[in-house]
Amino acid sequence: MSKLKLDLPTLQNWDCHNCSGCCRQHGVFITPEEKARIESQGWTAEHGIPANQPLVLKHKTGMFSAASYRLAQQPDGACVFLNEQGLCRIHARFEEAAKPLACRIYPYAFHPKSRQVTVGLRFSCPSVVRNLGTPVVQQAKNIQHIADLALKNTDRDIAAPRLTNTESPDWPDILQFVEALDQTLATRDDFTTKLLRALNWIKLVSESKFDKVRGPRLTEFLQLIRDAVAADTPASTETPPRPPAVARVQFRLLVAQYARKDTFADIEAGIRGRWKMLLTALKFARGRGVVPALLDGCVGVQFLALERPFGGLPAEADEIFTRYFRIKIQSMHFCGKAYYDIPLVEGFVSLALIFPTILWLARWRAASQDREVLGVDDVVTAITIADHHHGYSPAFGMSGFRRRVRILDQLGAVTTLCRWYAK
Ligand code: SF4
Repeated sequence: MSKLKLDLPTLQNWDCHNCSGCCRQHGVFITPEEKARIESQGWTAEHGIPANQPLVLKHKTGMFSAASYRLAQQPDGACVFLNEQGLCRIHARFEEAAKPLACRIYPYAFHPKSRQVTVGLRFSCPSVVRNLGTPVVQQAKNIQHIADLALKNTDRDIAAPRLTNTESPDWPDILQFVEALDQTLATRDDFTTKLLRALNWIKLVSESKFDKVRGPRLTEFLQLIRDAVAADTPASTETPPRPPAVARVQFRLLVAQYARKDTFADIEAGIRGRWKMLLTALKFARGRGVVPALLDGCVGVQFLALERPFGGLPAEADEIFTRYFRIKIQSMHFCGKAYYDIPLVEGFVSLALIFPTILWLARWRAASQDREVLGVDDVVTAITIADHHHGYSPAFGMSGFRRRVRILDQLGAVTTLCRWYAK
């Protein structure tokens, strides 16, 4: 089989800095072959695995779904193979190639882009958010090897994402929309202004008909509306109106979905777990009193305290948000196969909502440390939390989440929320 042609991000650096965050947060699903390999590696108490500790568990999501396998976890939720030094025991004994493929892929993500595979990164890794390490383009050989392993049995003939529910241009044209969105965010303006422009641009796209506009005419048209929104979008420095109450309710419920850290123990707790989730959702819908303690270290904060201005974005946040959004767009991680098969326009609105969500989470972290101004660490931590689910949690592709995004869009609240929480 011919090698996959990879499209690598030029904006991003990354090396693993062994913070062990991914080994504590992610469930690792493995194949039957990986299960057999791990079980034959002879793990004993001498290697730090207690005799009664299972290595692999059967994972079943529903009565009629097929069972799969995942690595077991220690009582604190960390991977069973994470050692006291925060390192992987499989890696230490047998080198990287012996680890499950899911661990070797992280934090990379491979998505179809016409005849190519585009490489994105998961911002649940703090080193990705902070852009730490070797330029990704210089790691092409290793990434190619992992991509070839990961995608060897997958269909390479993937249809382009739809533009809207009614329009489905071919790959060359849909890539023009992706490129135009990326360019909207590539300017040197402040990030909030760029995002507001992109949202106005996507609104114009959603209101236009493209069935007869293709190829070079499309290029011209997209440039035209980019120029129009650049001239029309108010600067983000203007005082924003408060989002309407109904939008604030929907938005808080959306934030709660991003903030929820579902451990397998919670998921498997059945009715008790669901009841806990329902109570939390009710508190977020009400938005009064103290925010339920969903995040480690974020306790005793009043909902109301998160609605006052927090001194704007920290200086470094502009670069971080610009890179985050551009990597998501360039790697198509907001629509089509890489994002629950959602059309491009809806997917971008969904992606845009992660901006006020991150800022809400960042405010929550700052307020729980009695600070009234956001620091870059608040933003970095909030991105790692929000990105953990975006494009990965099955709930985000379901009708409930999509309806919430649609309601906020129909209320015209997405831009208001972006402006309100950027202050
Ligand atoms: S979260 Fe990132 S830096 Fe931390 S261990 Fe995982 S890959 Fe390495």
